[in-house]
Amino acid sequence: CGIVGYIGQQDTKDILLNGLEKLEYRGYDSAGIATLTDNGVDVFKVKGRIANLREKVGQDDTFATMGIGHTRWATHGAPSEENAHPHQSASGRFTIVHNGVIENYVQLRNEYLANVNLVSETDTEVIVQLIETLNNELNDVTAAFRKAVSLLHGSYAVALIDAEDSETIYVAKNKSPLLVGLGDNFNLVASDSMATLRVTNQYMELHDKEVVIVKRTNVELQQLDGTVVEREPFTAEIDA
Ligand code: GLU
Repeated sequence: CGIVGYIGQQDTKDILLNGLEKLEYRGYDSAGIATLTDNGVDVFKVKGRIANLREKVGQDDTFATMGIGHTRWATHGAPSEENAHPHQSASGRFTIVHNGVIENYVQLRNEYLANVNLVSETDTEVIVQLIETLNNELNDVTAAFRKAVSLLHGSYAVALIDAEDSETIYVAKNKSPLLVGLGDNFNLVASDSMATLRVTNQYMELHDKEVVIVKRTNVELQQLDGTVVEREPFTAEIDA
């Protein structure tokens, strides 16, 4: 339902939680964030309110300058902590948030993930497990991400982090809204600029089936064949 992501210099937890609160008006049944610290990825999820998520995260005093967050409106699998996003790959290396519906997730699971033990009932988990499986073959996360996106049918906005890379958030969309927000020494991702207008008013529009490699100080748009795309940002109006 709602996505926020941040990579920069500040502690990301407040930025993610504030962003998710701005998206509450859209409705949701559960929420979660994942942050990357020096010790790996921490995932916090709750069924129910963001206030409860904030309480859970509040007990954690680690410092993390990148992370992703999500409010879920369940389509596949009951509203529960287990089905809440972010979802992780079997090894724990990859972590994803997703809006939308993957129409061919059963086929993808049968074709690529026969040996993988899925822990949730969501279509979303199939995406992150697929990325790990493809990366095991390709040994190139950007290529694995593009390949996975090219195999998805349906609607999606996704943001992915890699526990072995504290410099990158991978994003892609198809028929679901997603923007990249640009800042000074930080960049961010949001399904709706409402989530992050307090942080930046510079945004880059994404087209369907493009991937974006979001780093702290630059953003690279690519087509699914790897061709780099140039695009000017726009200024979002603050009228809230
Ligand atoms: N299909 C996904 C799920 O059920 C994402 C739903 C959403 O957009 O929040 O978990």
